[in-house]
Amino acid sequence: MNAPLRLRRDADALVANWRALARMSGRAACGAAIKADGYGLGAAWAAAALAAAGCRDFFVATWTEAVALAPLGLPGLAVLHGVRDEDLDVALSGAATPVLNTAMQVARWKAAGGGACHVMLDTGMNRLGLGEGDLASGVLDGLTIDVLMSHLASADEDSPKNSDQRGRFVAMAEGVAASRLSLANSAGIALGADYPFDLTRPGLALYGGTPRPELAGIIAQVAFPQAQVLQRRHVPAGETVGYNATWTAPADTDVAILNIGYADGYWRGFSGRGQAFHDGEALPVVGRVSMDLTAIDVTGRAIAEGDWLDIDYDLPRAAAASGMSQYELLTGLGGRFDRT
Ligand SMILES: *Cc1c(COP(=O)(O)O)cnc(C)c1O
Repeated sequence: MNAPLRLRRDADALVANWRALARMSGRAACGAAIKADGYGLGAAWAAAALAAAGCRDFFVATWTEAVALAPLGLPGLAVLHGVRDEDLDVALSGAATPVLNTAMQVARWKAAGGGACHVMLDTGMNRLGLGEGDLASGVLDGLTIDVLMSHLASADEDSPKNSDQRGRFVAMAEGVAASRLSLANSAGIALGADYPFDLTRPGLALYGGTPRPELAGIIAQVAFPQAQVLQRRHVPAGETVGYNATWTAPADTDVAILNIGYADGYWRGFSGRGQAFHDGEALPVVGRVSMDLTAIDVTGRAIAEGDWLDIDYDLPRAAAASGMSQYELLTGLGGRFDRT
C-alpha cells in the first residue's frame, strides 16, 4: 500500500543542521530535542541519524516517548517532564534519566533511591522548574545531578529577558553541585558564546526551523511534503472553488486537487496563501483548504491526475503565509503521510 501523500525527510540535512549547531555551540556538546515524535518527523528516525553523527544527549517530554525509543539504546536520553508516581517504575528501570522539575519530584526520586538525574531551574519563564525558594530550602542536597538546566522564554527575540535569565541561571547554579550546565535551545545557540555553557538542546533548527536571522542560510530544510493530484479540472471564469466559495475564477482557470488538507497539518491558514512547486515555479492555493483536499491553480502547466507536487514548506515562509508557528507546522504533520 502507498498513500497519496508523502513526507520526504532529508537525513543529510538533519545531520548537517546538527553539525552547524554543534559548531555554533563552541566547546559545549550539542544535544537534540526529539520530543513530539521528533517534531513530527519521526523520533527514531532523527535519533538514529544524530546518534550515528555523534550526538550523545537526547530529550523527550514523557516516559511513553522514552520507552518507544528504548530499542535504539541511545547513549543519553532525558525525560523533560520529570517523574510522577505513575512513572517511577519505568524511570527506575533506567529507560532514561529524569529532569526533575519540582520539589515533589525531587523528594519522590530521593525516596525511591533513584540515581543520577537532571534538574530544571526556573529562571523567569514560570513554566517548569525549581525556583530560588526551593534551592534555599536545600531540596537538592544529596542529589547526584548530571545536567543542571534552565530554559529561555524569549531567545527568538532581542529581549533583555535573555541576559536576565542567563544571569539568574548563573547565580542559581553557583550553589548547586552538577556535572554540566545547559541553557540554550535552537534560538539560544544563536545568541552567542555566553549561552551554550556545557550542553545545548536544539530542537526546531535541527528540523529546518529558523527562529533567528543568524541561522538563515545555515539551517537547511529537512521536511518536504508531497501530495498527489487526484483530479485536474477546468474552472470557467466566474465559477467558484471550495467550501464557502471564497475564490472565484477571474478568468478560465485549470485547477489541480491535491490529496492534502488540514487533517494532515496543512492548516486552513494556507487557504489562498500557500503554494506548491512544479519545475521550480510556485503555484498558488486557491480557495479554502479542506480537511483532506487542497486546490491549486495549474493553468498552462503540464500537470495531470496522478502527478506529485511539492508543497512549499520552507518553514519561515510557510509560517508567515499560514499564521502558524514553525513548531506547529512541523508537529502538526499528521499520520497519513508515507514518511520516506
Ligand atoms: C523543546 C525544548 C527544547 C528545544 O527547543 P527549540 O526551541 O525547539 O530548539 C530545549 N529545551 C527544552 C527544555 C525544551 O522543552
